[in-house]
Amino acid sequence: MPRFSDKVAIVTGAASGIGKEIALRFAAEDGVPVIADLNFDAADATAREIRSQGREAFAVAMNVADETAVERGVADTMAKYGRIDVLVSNAGIQIVKPIVDLPFADWKRLLAIHLDGAFLTTRACLKHMYKAKSGSVIYMGSVHSKEASLLKAPYVTAKHGLLGLCRVVAKEGAQHNVRANVVCPGFVRTPLVDKQIPEQAEELGISEEDVIKHVMLKDTVDGEFTTTADVAAAVLFLVGFETNALTGQSLVVSHGWFME
Ligand code: NAD
Repeated sequence: MPRFSDKVAIVTGAASGIGKEIALRFAAEDGVPVIADLNFDAADATAREIRSQGREAFAVAMNVADETAVERGVADTMAKYGRIDVLVSNAGIQIVKPIVDLPFADWKRLLAIHLDGAFLTTRACLKHMYKAKSGSVIYMGSVHSKEASLLKAPYVTAKHGLLGLCRVVAKEGAQHNVRANVVCPGFVRTPLVDKQIPEQAEELGISEEDVIKHVMLKDTVDGEFTTTADVAAAVLFLVGFETNALTGQSLVVSHGWFME
């Protein structure tokens, strides 16, 4: 039995990596993903890939840090489908630099995408979810919602911040039957991680192989990367869990890198 028949999910940053996998798997269970991404061409390619499998999907151009673009993308989704059942706030970037060398503009850019983006998409979607008396919001956190690492001050700050936003949404949303949870992956081989391997190697003065082995996967139980499939399965588990028994929670998916 498909879990998500005709449900509509806005997935930000779904043109690539983790967000794309979530969209593909949501569609495979009869849901309708809205691929909301800064990169419209790539978003459209993902939507076409899903439609070529006989499923439904819709691409919208959206910079999650831009209030007007977010409101427009959510309005276009409502105009097309008349409902928003799920928001996966996933769009994100990484910037690798020690605090002393970090330009203020980089700090603000990262926080804007991760935190302003989460706030703006949440606010726009909640209005429709509250009217429908139903909804599920998932934030893409990270092990960096729980742990710090060298060179990642704005990212660690933003990912910790999402835990706070999620808990407020869980409290405010409860009376409207809206739940909010955070999924916290370990390292996943996506373009976001592939870009930072050479950057970390240079900053730390070690080889790329050592970055993978002794930085990224050092504390996992098995030396393995988490996969996009692992993360998508966790997201869809939370989306499919339809009572307030699971709200305001954060689920770490990291091969044991972080245990709680
Ligand atoms: P990715 O680079 O493969 O994909 C990110 C997507 O976000 C891209 O399609 C990009 O165009 C889009 N994007 C960037 N800025 C945007 C903006 N302003 N508005 C709309 N879209 C924008 O990265 P990924 O690894 O799939 O990361 C997705 C999320 O997962 C991020 O929030 C990231 O922090 C989080 N995460 C990733 C890992 C990992 O190891 N890859 C681990 C933990 C958490």
